[in-house]
Amino acid sequence: MTYEFSDRIQRVEPSATLAISNLAAEKEAEGADIVDLSVGEPDFPTPENVVEAGKDALDAGHTGYTSSNGIPPLKEAIAEKLRGNGIDAAADEVIVTPGGKQALYETVQTVVDDGDEVVLLDPAWVSYEAMVKLAGGDLTRVDLAPHDFQLEPALDELGEAVSDDTELLVVNSPSNPTGAVFSDDALEGVRDLAVEHDLAVISDEIYERITYGEDPTSLASLDGMADRTITINGFSKAFSMTGWRLGYLHATEEFIGEAGKLHSHSVSCATNFVQHAGVEALENTDEAVTEMRDAFAERRDLLVDLLADHGVDVAVPDGAFYMMLPVDDDDQAWCEEAIEQAHVACVPGSAFNADGYARISYAASEERLREAVERLVDADLL
Ligand code: PMP
Repeated sequence: MTYEFSDRIQRVEPSATLAISNLAAEKEAEGADIVDLSVGEPDFPTPENVVEAGKDALDAGHTGYTSSNGIPPLKEAIAEKLRGNGIDAAADEVIVTPGGKQALYETVQTVVDDGDEVVLLDPAWVSYEAMVKLAGGDLTRVDLAPHDFQLEPALDELGEAVSDDTELLVVNSPSNPTGAVFSDDALEGVRDLAVEHDLAVISDEIYERITYGEDPTSLASLDGMADRTITINGFSKAFSMTGWRLGYLHATEEFIGEAGKLHSHSVSCATNFVQHAGVEALENTDEAVTEMRDAFAERRDLLVDLLADHGVDVAVPDGAFYMMLPVDDDDQAWCEEAIEQAHVACVPGSAFNADGYARISYAASEERLREAVERLVDADLL
């Protein structure tokens, strides 16, 4: 038959990173050794005690459905973690989701109607746009690229972009793809605008544990933000648990009641034994998290130095494990050439609405990072 696909699904494109990973896979199948700097996940194993907690939970028979919003000990551990961030959180204000992505999806579906305006800060992670389009929202974008990807110098532009008609603003700090960590002044500027225009704000804090300076501030901890912020976080990045699929959202109880309807009618609940492992991750992994963070910091410094040796200046990221490399205007072509000629995979900046850049993930060994830079230089791409 010929399907009449929904308008909704036809509004979105497959992930723009797909072309690059397909090309990389093709080259690998031909026997090429690709240095893959396109991946969005830590290259460390999940901490052993978390793996053990998952196995123990399986052995203990935690294999059925859980209550839809999550098991009480995990919701309580999450609330306690958020209280540590200065958010006045209670367990009933949390939905545990299969990954932070699902938490974001549920949030957008819960607040965005057809024609509602949603403001994104560019460069923005690829899925925000898709989620807003699926919900029928219209996008307004504020470009942070001219400001070294920082929000503070762009607050005036943000002020011009938002109005009383804006429904939702999405803030992601530390940021994917730029690694920027927004200053307290920037977040206070967001707060002032959100209060003035009565906006809901998503604060995607999934890279919160991976920072190289000050601890980032949680938006919901600022005066005036508690009842208008949906805080998103997850276990993928901090605890190297991407494949476990575990995340959460925190918002007011009223919000949870509404978002919980979508949650229960779609995923039912996050995986039972994974939730038990999540409790262990939140309570007993400080050392492992610090070790991973320190390794990322060393790699960041190495990469910044290697690039500087070849005359390439980047905006030095303070968080996450990405940096934006300035490349040709046609960043898609540059990335294709990088795979073809240098066998190095990165993601074109245009995927994040940042033409002229490539996103490098430095969740790779120092040896592979050196190799990547050498190859790009040899291929005249740097
Ligand atoms: N937010 C951002 C900014 C991300 O980069 C990612 C993962 N790439 C997510 C949310 C979702 O991660 P997960 O679903 O694995 O928790």
